[in-house]
Amino acid sequence: MKAARTRSQDRILNLLKSLKQAVSAQDIYVELRNRSQGVGLATVYRALESLKLEGVVQVRTLANGESLYGCMQQDQHHLTCLQCGTSIPIDECPVHQLETQLQQSYHFKVFYHTLEFFGLCDQCQPVQATASEF
Ligand SMILES: [Zn+2]
Ligand SMILES: [Zn+2]
Repeated sequence: MKAARTRSQDRILNLLKSLKQAVSAQDIYVELRNRSQGVGLATVYRALESLKLEGVVQVRTLANGESLYGCMQQDQHHLTCLQCGTSIPIDECPVHQLETQLQQSYHFKVFYHTLEFFGLCDQCQPVQATASEF
């Protein structure tokens, strides 16, 4: 019972599927222009909004407030460094099972979940933490 997708929604979805990582609406706008499939930025946001409600696109909000959009197939979590902002993808999903349980217990149709870990990366951790050991 869902409405047919507009052409811009299709373009954005195809783009997101072809990318390995989540990108901002601005990135999508620029990338589509590069591919000569340009649509207005407002249209990009509108299309992302409907794709999001459809459950095919997921949104991730970074510590700096920027939203990144990615395709549903990715169930990927990150370790985010608060200092340098680096985002390290982790391979496993620790809550996959929980999602299924929640769907059953609450009769809630879960499209996706977010789970992020914040802290300091290897590079940003103070050196004395290990140096003080001896
Ligand atoms: Zn760092
Ligand atoms: Zn997950």
